[in-house]
Amino acid sequence: MNAAAAVEALTLPVVETFHSLQGEGVHTGRSALFIRLGGCSVGCSWCDTKHSWPVAVHPRRRLDSLTAEVQQAATAGAAFVVITGGEPLEHPLDPLCTTLAAAGLPLHLETSGVGPWSGQFHWITLSPKPHRPPSAEALRRCQELKVVVHDAQDLAFAEAMASAALAQRRSGEPGPALLLQPGWDCPEGQRLAIGFVQAHPGWRLSLQSHKWLGVR
Ligand code: SF4
Repeated sequence: MNAAAAVEALTLPVVETFHSLQGEGVHTGRSALFIRLGGCSVGCSWCDTKHSWPVAVHPRRRLDSLTAEVQQAATAGAAFVVITGGEPLEHPLDPLCTTLAAAGLPLHLETSGVGPWSGQFHWITLSPKPHRPPSAEALRRCQELKVVVHDAQDLAFAEAMASAALAQRRSGEPGPALLLQPGWDCPEGQRLAIGFVQAHPGWRLSLQSHKWLGVR
């Protein structure tokens, strides 16, 4: 490995870090440190973090400096770390997870499940996208399946993904928690998601509570 490659292996492009409450999904309302990595080629038209897509514009941060920040956040009350993006799996995440493990907080991943798997996590939220379906590995590993709903096709996709996640598990192994999340500012998505959850008790609603509250 040459010097440039060695430095790159110890760093990742970071859009932002912040300590807030988890706004979405099963862990909504819990104190968390967010690490948003730069880089995503999935290309969702409704993406609310398009600024995270390019890699090169975001400064590369050393993994040990991120670990120090996680340790500070733990002292300040963070219950876990959320690795988000962008699409975190567009980077090899094993060095990050190994380094952050020293801080002692559980690691959560938010991913679309596209691309090769890497890293070790205590909780994986898979938010699959119809135009770039997730890998079998992501479907097998996730504890939480969270599908964004804009139209009726998204409901059919959500059911297909729930079946695919179960199909990837061993007999008797539980499936992921199943959540529908209306697209932001999408009344049709809200209507469809609420109606579906009312009629399907295995599913629950996820709201982007941080956006409703106007916090990060
Ligand atoms: S995968 Fe996430 S970050 Fe990437 S385009 Fe889709 S919503 Fe945006």
